[in-house]
Amino acid sequence: MSPRRPRIGVMGGTFDPVHHGHLVAASEAAARLDLDEVVFVPTGRPWLKHHKTVTSSEHRYLMTVIATASNPQFTVSRVDVDRPGVTYTVDTLRELRLERPDADLYFITGADAIEQILTWKDADKLWDMAHFVAVTRPGHHLSTEGLPADGVTMLEVPALAISSSDCRRRAGAGLPVWYLVPDGVVQYIAKHGLYRGLSDE
Ligand code: ATP
Ligand code: MG
Repeated sequence: MSPRRPRIGVMGGTFDPVHHGHLVAASEAAARLDLDEVVFVPTGRPWLKHHKTVTSSEHRYLMTVIATASNPQFTVSRVDVDRPGVTYTVDTLRELRLERPDADLYFITGADAIEQILTWKDADKLWDMAHFVAVTRPGHHLSTEGLPADGVTMLEVPALAISSSDCRRRAGAGLPVWYLVPDGVVQYIAKHGLYRGLSDE
């Protein structure tokens, strides 16, 4: 019998900043789908957020490294932050597949993101590049209507009503983000004065 192919979760996001909602979604997907690893992939310039101010990719990348450092199953990839131009998931998956031709990829995405997937660049190509895992997210209805049934797995994950937008607003207003993001990320935000005087949304 041939050995089972490695199963790699891919958690794409802006991670501005990374928070416990992201980490719980990745951890739950890893456990429930028997993933060997979850690669967090901070975006370069996110195409859906082009009209907003997004923190530099190096800060977002480093916060993601700090947040995932203690979990031996979690890694962080620079493929998107190092690729010039706007980030599209089709390019992310193409690059990860070239890096890991031996593995099957499981792209993890929240209920809000999966709803938009058909509007993503080359949406019809995505289903052959990875299996999609659509996770529940408080405040969003999870539906995979119109998506290929064998291409998407729905997964209920512990509900954490946390968003990066809210963390940015809180940090900008001087409110605590303790326990919403990992301790090291709280300290990183304070050290670099991120989100101070924020008025982007
Ligand atoms: P923003 O408010 O800036 O959009 P966000 O909290 O939505 O930030 P993203 O970086 O946009 O975070 O999300 C990356 C991925 O993680 C998306 O697929 C999103 O749906 C998912 N996600 C984010 N927060 C949660 C959460 N609390 N529970 C489950 N999934 C989540
Ligand atoms: Mg979002």
